[in-house]
Amino acid sequence: MLEWKDHTWFEISEKINKIKAVILPVGSCEQHSLHLPLGMDSYSSYILSREIASKLSGDVLVLPPIWYGISPHHMHFKGTITLESSTLLSMVRDIARSLDKHGVRKLIIINGHGGNIPTLNLALREIKEKTKLKAILINPWELINDVIKDVLESEIWGHACEFETSVALVIIPDKVRKDKITKPNIKTPKMKYAALWSPIRVTTAWNTDEFTDTGSIGDPTKASVEKGEKLWQAMLERTLSVVKEFIES
Ligand SMILES: [Zn+2]
Repeated sequence: MLEWKDHTWFEISEKINKIKAVILPVGSCEQHSLHLPLGMDSYSSYILSREIASKLSGDVLVLPPIWYGISPHHMHFKGTITLESSTLLSMVRDIARSLDKHGVRKLIIINGHGGNIPTLNLALREIKEKTKLKAILINPWELINDVIKDVLESEIWGHACEFETSVALVIIPDKVRKDKITKPNIKTPKMKYAALWSPIRVTTAWNTDEFTDTGSIGDPTKASVEKGEKLWQAMLERTLSVVKEFIES
């Protein structure tokens, strides 16, 4: 059994001293252009977490995922549901406190959504201050920058794009609306350093519709199963090696 939620309390109590860590998948419920489902980031972090757990034969268990994230920048597109930063912070901290109480010692957060990163970093700090847990945050795409550079044709990528659509074609193929994959009209901001894809960047509180008409940031028409397999395999291998290093540390 890979998942926390499928155990009874007694089974968990027998396992808790044997497992080396638990994984918390965190995603979002937000627009992913015309062709990907709102749950894309949650599917990717959840499926990756399950694959990692399945390769570690009982050393780690997967917690119930958090299917919502920090998505105020996508709210102009219908269907997006966002949490306040303080809500996500409280949820992750409360989950960690419960785990701490039951004697779990290591927590791995596998995150599927860039907008969650600042809040999850704050959560790591709180977990360190307020529990005995050791915790890490993995944003899997950050582990494969070199592979992304190799595989993608597009220079601009980031959301419902060549990268994410290729991955979706591998992990949730029946949820991709292939006939709706459209090249967006990418809008360049007046201040060039405010562009999300600028190598030198200033940060602003941007909204997605300032950059794109469809919701895609990047070109999903360049996506393919072949690219998706390379990207997914790389994320799986590198995430697995980080997880192994952490649980043995
Ligand atoms: Zn996404």
